Amino acid sequence: MNRAGVLSRIRSHSAAWDIIVVGGGATGVGVAIDAAARGYDVLLLEQSDFGKGTSSRSTKLVHGGVRYLEQGNLSLVMEALHERGLLLRNAPHLVHNLGFVVPRYDWWEAPFYGIGLKLYDLLAGKYGFGASQILSLEQTREYLPTIELEGLRGGVIYFDGQFDDARLLINMVATAFEQGATLLNCAPVTALTRDTHGYVNGVVAADAETGEELRATAKVVVNATGAFSDNLRLQADAAAAPLIAPSQGIHLVFDRRFLPGTTAIMVPHTSDGRVMFAIPWHGHTLVGTTDTPVVPALEPVATEQEVDFLLSTSSRYLATKPTRSDVLSVFAGIRPLVHGEGSTETSALSRDHVVHIDKSGLITVCGGKWTTYRKMAEDCVNQAATLAQLNERASVTDHLPIHGFHNSAEQFADLAVYGSDAPEILKLVEADASLAVRLHPDLPYIAAEVVWAVRAEMARTVEDVLARRLRALFLNARAALKMAPAVVEIMAREFGAGEAWKSRELAAFEAIAANYQLH
Ligand SMILES: Cc1cc2nc3c(=O)[nH]c(=O)nc-3n(C[C@H](O)[C@H](O)[C@H](O)COP(=O)(O)OP(=O)(O)OC[C@H]3O[C@@H](n4cnc5c(N)ncnc54)[C@H](O)[C@@H]3O)c2cc1C
Repeated sequence: MNRAGVLSRIRSHSAAWDIIVVGGGATGVGVAIDAAARGYDVLLLEQSDFGKGTSSRSTKLVHGGVRYLEQGNLSLVMEALHERGLLLRNAPHLVHNLGFVVPRYDWWEAPFYGIGLKLYDLLAGKYGFGASQILSLEQTREYLPTIELEGLRGGVIYFDGQFDDARLLINMVATAFEQGATLLNCAPVTALTRDTHGYVNGVVAADAETGEELRATAKVVVNATGAFSDNLRLQADAAAAPLIAPSQGIHLVFDRRFLPGTTAIMVPHTSDGRVMFAIPWHGHTLVGTTDTPVVPALEPVATEQEVDFLLSTSSRYLATKPTRSDVLSVFAGIRPLVHGEGSTETSALSRDHVVHIDKSGLITVCGGKWTTYRKMAEDCVNQAATLAQLNERASVTDHLPIHGFHNSAEQFADLAVYGSDAPEILKLVEADASLAVRLHPDLPYIAAEVVWAVRAEMARTVEDVLARRLRALFLNARAALKMAPAVVEIMAREFGAGEAWKSRELAAFEAIAANYQLH
């Protein structure tokens, strides 16, 4: 993962690539892994940082989706449960089992949710994460010591997966490189090129750091730009009907004391008909989410209405009521939902994925969810290979370990999320003891992780480091701001950058961090 090396590889690649992928989120990087692992020659271009879009802004669940069970979409649930099992097997350093308690305040909820969750266990088959169980009031209090007790009758516990989305994505980028793919960040695709028949046969992109124009041709181009999918489709066909109904979801992050155990709360029906989760994540409490139709933005911002909704809804279930001043970070993400016919409610739209081929030959893969990225990629590469008449080769990703794979990463304590890379970070500390310094007393991150992010994970900006290589901005925006001056110094040393770069970087990070704080 060396950006200068990647750029020269792209410049000297005169032949057409088999596949060019536009978009470096879970879907696009999944496509790059799948295609490269089959032996195809793949280039991926991401306009900003890997994971800058929705893929760093999820609820961080690897799940079948209990809600879709209720909607009767059993095939979607089964597919996601299968993918959940594969992801646990292929990335055990990042995915782990988490108990979710559905609190019961009405008599009918025990049989209703009890039976539904037994069906969820059954659909998981051999990929089960643990058997669901009806809980007494006393057991519910043991799992959730801070649950609101008024009217509580008990609960039902079930099990799903939890992960760190941006960290998995960075490990997937490394996996794609290991499989032979070429991936570049800070490289927006600005235009599509066409052959004499009008078929899309390549892209024009820019190196956002230098302004250099990059041109590349391909046998097929895959549009994996998530919520932005229709923008690229319109470049290929100005009359293309929209595929995406973008819907924003936000999360609030609080101190761990609001949910001090190791079990999450799942509320199946909030007043707007969505589910609400309160989840222990990286030593904090994560509460989400909302469902608001929006126009896609690269840096979406939570609305006051969304914040108020989550504060009031979480207050109904937590004994200590969170207030605005308790919010350590607020972040928004945009679901790239596939347009439905006849429904105006984005919460009612299907979470199924779609591989769509435009008349121009541009392939768009969208919808779905993080959990099902591997299956989305497999389906997309099958179609791309047929369309481009590539040699037929089967997908091998169901058993492909993700970079960092480690079966007992807990031994690396605060560095556990790095899996097999953790010893490399410890070596940096051994070589230079000053890199053991903690960057903020409230967060576990050390200076060596910044060096690692720059040298081994293609981090280019302070935001790349504080938002996605470390999760500081998502956990505690004020703490992240306090860390920024130390981070910029370390990065400038690594890049050999001067004062002008440092002040530009700090100002840019401060502007972005303002969106993660409540004022
Ligand atoms: C609030 C919320 C909670 C969620 N929770 C979960 C969950 O718990 N579990 C789960 O399984 N799923 C969850 N999801 C769904 C999941 O996060 C998304 O389905 C998934 O991340 C989408 O990935 P993507 O790669 O398609 O899109 P993105 O991650 O948005 O990636 C698209 C990328 O394309 C890039 N791009 C756009 N235009 C260009 C261009 N012209 N040139 C180059 N690059 C470009 C963007 O910068 C972006 O990085 C959640 C979604 C939301 C919004």
